[in-house]
Amino acid sequence: MITREEIRKTANEIGLDLVGFTHAGELERIREILEERERCGYLSGMEPGSRDDRICPGLHLEDVKSIIAVGLSYKFPPGGCEKQGDCPKGVLSGFAVGEDYHRVIESRLEQLALYIKSRIKGFRYSIMVDTGPLVDREVAYRAGIGWYGKNCSIICPGFGSGILLGEMLTNIELEPDTPGSGECGACTLCIDTCPTGALIAPYTLNAKKCISYLTQMRGIVPRELRPKMGTSIYGCDRCQQACPHNRDTISFKDRDNAIDLIELLQMDKREFNKKFGTRSLAWRGLNVLKRNAVIALGNFKKEEGLDILASISKHPSPMLRAHAAWAVGRIGGSRAVRILQNMLDCEKDADVRSEAELSLKEVRERRIT
Ligand code: SF4
Ligand code: SF4
Repeated sequence: MITREEIRKTANEIGLDLVGFTHAGELERIREILEERERCGYLSGMEPGSRDDRICPGLHLEDVKSIIAVGLSYKFPPGGCEKQGDCPKGVLSGFAVGEDYHRVIESRLEQLALYIKSRIKGFRYSIMVDTGPLVDREVAYRAGIGWYGKNCSIICPGFGSGILLGEMLTNIELEPDTPGSGECGACTLCIDTCPTGALIAPYTLNAKKCISYLTQMRGIVPRELRPKMGTSIYGCDRCQQACPHNRDTISFKDRDNAIDLIELLQMDKREFNKKFGTRSLAWRGLNVLKRNAVIALGNFKKEEGLDILASISKHPSPMLRAHAAWAVGRIGGSRAVRILQNMLDCEKDADVRSEAELSLKEVRERRIT
C-alpha cells in the first residue's frame, strides 16, 4: 500500500515541482480537437504516434490503472534581441537553457519509480516526457496540474506556464485529482503578441506557423515567415512572456539564453557536441541551428553579418546556402549585391538560385545598391 501523499512528497524531494493523479481512461476530450487540427492542417507533423496512440494510455502499458503527472518549473529568458559589441546574439527559449529537460525529468521519474517499486510488489510503469505519444498537456490538465490558457499552454497556480511536463503510467490504483481550473477572462495578450498569427483563435494553434516549430523543422523555412522569427534560434517564448500569469512567478533575469551567432556558424560537429550535446536543442543537429542563425543575422540587418554570410553562401548544404541568399538580401547594400551575383555565377542548385535571384531583385528594388 502506498498513498498519494507519500508519492507526492517523494516526487517533490526528488525535484519534481508539481504532481497530480488521473485515471487511465482515454483522453476522450481531445479526440475531436485532434481530428479538427488534422483536418485543418494545424499539426506540425512532428507529433509522435497515431491519433489513438496519443489518447489511449492502455496502448502503452498493459493493465494501466493510473497516471502520475509531473511538472518541472523553469525560468523564462529576457525577450528581444541581444547584441553585445559587434557580436550578434540569438535567443534560446527558456526550456532550452541548461541540461536537456527530457533527461532530467525522465531520470527523476525513474527515481520515483524505484521508490514506489520498493513499496509495491508487482509495480509496473512506463515513463513519457514530451516525445512519448500521449498528449502531455491533456494528461497534466486532467491530473489537476493546471488549466489551458488561450495560448494553449498549461497554466499552473503559483508557477504560471513555465512548466515542463512528464508522466508515469502505472498499474496501481490511485485516486484521481480533479482537472485544473482557471480562466483567461477577456485577456488576449498572447494572441496579440504572436508574431506569425500562429494562435489563430483562443485555444487554437496552427503549429506550422509557430516559431517554436519553425526553429525545429528540417529544410527550408517559408520565406514569408523568416522576418517574423527575429533572432530566435530554438523555441519561442513570446506568448508566454506576455502572459500576466507569468509576471509574478517567473524571473526574467537569467541571460544564459543568448547564443553567439558567429561562433555557432563557425562551429564544426565536434565542437557543437562538446558545447551543446547534452542540451535539448541538439536533437535536430547543427545545420538546423545554423540555418536559424543565418535567419537571425538577416533579421539583425547589420552589414557586419555579411562576412560570415558570404562564407555560408559557399557551404556544402543547399539549405544553408538558400537561407544565406535570403539573409544577404535582407541586409542589402552594394556588398550584398556583389555576394548575390557571385552566388549566381557558380550556384547549380535550382532552389538556391531562385532564392538568390529573388533576393537580388528585392535589393535592387529597394534601390540601395
Ligand atoms: S510560441 Fe511564439 S510563434 Fe508560437 S504561438 Fe507562441 S508567440 Fe506565437
Ligand atoms: S496572455 Fe492572457 S489570454 Fe493568453 S494565456 Fe495568458 S491570461 Fe490567457
